[in-house]
Amino acid sequence: MSKPDMMNNNCLGWAARDESGVLSPYTFTRREVGDEDVSLKITHCGICYADMLFTKNRLGDSRYPLVPGHEIVGIVKEVGSNVHHFKVGHRVGVGAYVNSCRECESCNQSLEVYCSKGSVYTSNGVDADGTITNGGYSSFIVVHERYCFRIPDEYPLALAAPLLCPGITAYSPMVRHKMNQPGKSLEVIGLGGVGHLAVKFGKAFGLNVKLFSTSISKKEEALSLLGDDNFVVSSDEQQMKAMANSLDFIIDTASGDHSLDHYMSCLKTAGVLALVGFPGDQIKLSPASLLRGMKTISGSLVGGVKETQEMLDFCAAHKIYPDIEIVPIQYVNEAWERLTKGDVKYRLADHMMENCLGWAARDPSGVLSPYSFNRRVVGSDDVSLKITHCGICYADIIHTRNKFGNSKYPVVPGHDIVGIVKEVGSNVGVFKVGDSVGVGTYVNSCRECENCEEGLEIHCSKGPVFTFGGVDVDGTITKGGYSSFIVVHQRYCYRIADDYPLGLAAPLLCAGITVYTPMIRHKMNQPGKSLGVIGLGGLGHMAVKFGKAFRLNVTVFSTSMSKKEEALTLLGADKFVLSSDEQDMKAMAKSLDFIINTASGDHPFDPYMSLLKTAGILVLVGFPSPEIKLSTISLLTGMRTVCGSVTGGTKDTRNAGFLCCPQDISRGGNGGNSECE
Ligand SMILES: [Zn+2]
Ligand SMILES: [Zn+2]
Ligand SMILES: [Zn+2]
Ligand SMILES: [Zn+2]
Repeated sequence: MSKPDMMNNNCLGWAARDESGVLSPYTFTRREVGDEDVSLKITHCGICYADMLFTKNRLGDSRYPLVPGHEIVGIVKEVGSNVHHFKVGHRVGVGAYVNSCRECESCNQSLEVYCSKGSVYTSNGVDADGTITNGGYSSFIVVHERYCFRIPDEYPLALAAPLLCPGITAYSPMVRHKMNQPGKSLEVIGLGGVGHLAVKFGKAFGLNVKLFSTSISKKEEALSLLGDDNFVVSSDEQQMKAMANSLDFIIDTASGDHSLDHYMSCLKTAGVLALVGFPGDQIKLSPASLLRGMKTISGSLVGGVKETQEMLDFCAAHKIYPDIEIVPIQYVNEAWERLTKGDVKYRLADHMMENCLGWAARDPSGVLSPYSFNRRVVGSDDVSLKITHCGICYADIIHTRNKFGNSKYPVVPGHDIVGIVKEVGSNVGVFKVGDSVGVGTYVNSCRECENCEEGLEIHCSKGPVFTFGGVDVDGTITKGGYSSFIVVHQRYCYRIADDYPLGLAAPLLCAGITVYTPMIRHKMNQPGKSLGVIGLGGLGHMAVKFGKAFRLNVTVFSTSMSKKEEALTLLGADKFVLSSDEQDMKAMAKSLDFIINTASGDHPFDPYMSLLKTAGILVLVGFPSPEIKLSTISLLTGMRTVCGSVTGGTKDTRNAGFLCCPQDISRGGNGGNSECE
């Protein structure tokens, strides 16, 4: 039995582990939602050049693993008791910082990013409690409501993501320096994420907007797409000279070393250049250009909380939309490569929609790694359960390693699932939120055929849908219980008795029902009869426990003497026989009513057949080998029966659950180790 870490770590993110900056899946724990906190499910996160500075430790203070991302949008999924502005279901965003002192002058003026004690950045920041903040390349985030923004209704969520960094970076100095005066002139340097939004804001403010670029290739785009009024190639001295003393404002969004003086000369008297790009560690400027024209150069970071909300509302009112491209988070490393090469127009946003965290094998190596995917929405007959434990079964290995040749990767294994109901559909009456429940090896069937009607869904004539690797009604491949939650039709969900330990219930849903079903079918529940159990693994130990609960006389057969102690004292078997001991085997001839063979691997059947009484039954539940050899005589002369069985139907599974609740089944022991098929 396992409880993978992932089920404790509640958040799946993408982290850089070192200065290579390469991102890979990473699970971690977000803090509990405090009184004033909002928890949001992240749907998209913008990809920012700053993310790369952090992941590649360009500023020298990166702490790994580092989950970047500070242009976050999503849906509120939980709010603290003291939260006033947000409700579950609200569309919200989080920007470059998630905390500040909330007391200093800057904070009081809603300029939290300039907090005198330092604002806490959304990733790689040191939070109030000393932990390092993890950013938005993750499934959800918990923040104080002050640092959370409403995304106006109808504004597309994905498009709102870049507003929270390049958007506010351009907007904040524009408002501060009163660039919102229609008729004034603005020149924007650079046409990247910040630049293209500065152009859009400028147009919305009614400014006369020009674009400076080093590349004539941007001209068409600037004039037609963005509606610039003019385009200037900054390397063209003729053009630059013609611009002298003509501009009220300049916004410099360009990165990389460049001289500011020849831009300053384009400003009118008292003109303002707002620096929002990062031209290099040092700016060189001639004092004359500042003094002579009373000109101002002013730097700016992303804005405060209040102006960020204003900007979002402004964008919605003026229908200002960033131009973005959406890439799935799985391709984030490729996206970054493109960003580095400048092969990205404006902005990229990660798509983070996957709602379920699982562990999947990607190929026949069978190695499992974190994998996020979508579970279906809870239908009217569905139950959604938060998975607390999932048994580790031999079948999981068979499928993750493609031993049957039909595995469809990625494979999320696991079919001994227990957990707590977290949501039910409108037609679900038997289960309610908070119930302890389990899901076994199949999650669907036709529900119409003869077998289904008799509660033998596993033998559905149209084929049951297995819990993982099966084809579901909607054509998707089912994903198993090595994951945070699962959604199933209520018919394939079982109640676990309140006082039955959840973790111990998991193996009942595969190994347990696999031995229970044939025992009932072949009427082994008759006190006083004798049962032989071959093999003492996950299936065998359950057969012994059920046998004792049915008050049978139980003999365990094993190839290993080391199992004796366990069989007799721990499991309470009546007898132990070493199957290689011919003397002992002979002494058992014609003494057993039933045998349950749980052993895997090639082994002869005849020595066991001879132990059955007349009309005795051997049930095969292990998988000895593709072919069984049997002497005809041993079947005929004793009227004996050999039959096989797979896991049980929903009816038997429910009954097994009841059987397991009473004390007759001793708990613990080898209860954790389940193997089957
Ligand atoms: Zn950013
Ligand atoms: Zn402060
Ligand atoms: Zn199993
Ligand atoms: Zn059916």
